[in-house]
Amino acid sequence: MKKPVRIAVTGAAGAISSSLLFRVASGEMFGTDQPVILQLIEVPQAMELLRGLAMELEDCALPLLHTIRIFDNPEAGFKNAHYAILIGARPRTAGMERIDLLTANAEIFERQGKALSANAARDVKVLVVGNPANTNALIASRNAPDLSPTQFTALTRLDHNRAKGMVANHLGVNAEEVRKVIIWGNHSSTQYPDLHQSKIFGEALVGQQLDETFYRETLIPRIQNRGSEIINARGHSSAASAAQAIIDHMRDWAMGTEENELVSMAIVSDGSYGIEKGIVYSFPVRCRYGRYQIVNGLDINEFSRKMMKSSEAELLEEKASVNHLLPKETEQSHYKLRICLRSGKFLAADGLLDSGDPVLETSRLL
Ligand code: NDP
Repeated sequence: MKKPVRIAVTGAAGAISSSLLFRVASGEMFGTDQPVILQLIEVPQAMELLRGLAMELEDCALPLLHTIRIFDNPEAGFKNAHYAILIGARPRTAGMERIDLLTANAEIFERQGKALSANAARDVKVLVVGNPANTNALIASRNAPDLSPTQFTALTRLDHNRAKGMVANHLGVNAEEVRKVIIWGNHSSTQYPDLHQSKIFGEALVGQQLDETFYRETLIPRIQNRGSEIINARGHSSAASAAQAIIDHMRDWAMGTEENELVSMAIVSDGSYGIEKGIVYSFPVRCRYGRYQIVNGLDINEFSRKMMKSSEAELLEEKASVNHLLPKETEQSHYKLRICLRSGKFLAADGLLDSGDPVLETSRLL
């Protein structure tokens, strides 16, 4: 049996986490030979709820569940964590402006960034789910001076999976057949679901299998607004599909993407595709050996460029409104990244080594 890994989860008593934890403890994230230690974190007022959830987990008698610990603060909760899934976030309430939401969450993620930097395992992999996820991830990362920016990601895998699911349903094929879907940008309605790289049975999706006008005018807005569509139907936001996306994101990051496939992850931009450095933006990536690389060199048409830029503009605006909370000391590390594909085979990293070696670059993480 392998040594257990420590997985910290914030907002652990909430809806998404309640769907997620049982599956993680059953081995769906890291495999059925990987024991897990769950470090569950909640705000003090939700601790009783969390205790109930922990009891239910215990009652499943799952063989992979090594230990459950519950915490009312991130400093202790992140101790030695190998993975941190940050779900808890302040929800938007009536009368709250976007800037109020950004500021309220900025404080939470500033504290969590510092706590991760001081307490987590040195190679911790962080996934931010709580909204506004991209900017929350940036705040956490900028407040974690002792970790690499490449260790912080935000969830756009649900958008990615939604695009796959909708296309598969529309064409009457298995979702497995729909490959190389890309979500660019922000996890918000400005995200750009790009299907131009996708082929089915050797034919391009856009223009051959899917009518271009249908793609642009019906499918893109439907994917962008799927979250609201679900809230309108269920009365509350998606939880089970978000949990599935978290599992997919972490599994692929840790264990690698499938052959001939790419996935979407929001990561600190290294300037690839002309996207401004220093924001957390969703790119097409491939993962191997526990690290990700941006898939570079894809053809970007004029329509795509416009859509990508519009989501970038929103993220730059979000960043500007929390700029005063981003410490200067971590600015440089966020502008010096290079996460691009050099050889097509190996993972590149954050540009500290520039050997000119076309095969392998290493990251300071290792
Ligand atoms: P959920 O578990 O349903 O959602 C948590 C967060 O995930 C929200 O910010 C939500 O955004 C976001 N999210 C991101 N992507 C998705 C998606 N695709 N579908 C749905 N949600 C998505 O919220 P609950 O209210 O049930 O639980 C939150 C828990 O967090 C509570 O138990 C609370 O006590 C805790 N909390 C912790 C805080 C902290 O750690 N300091 C602060 C505040 C709360 P959106 O709101 O936009 O749907």
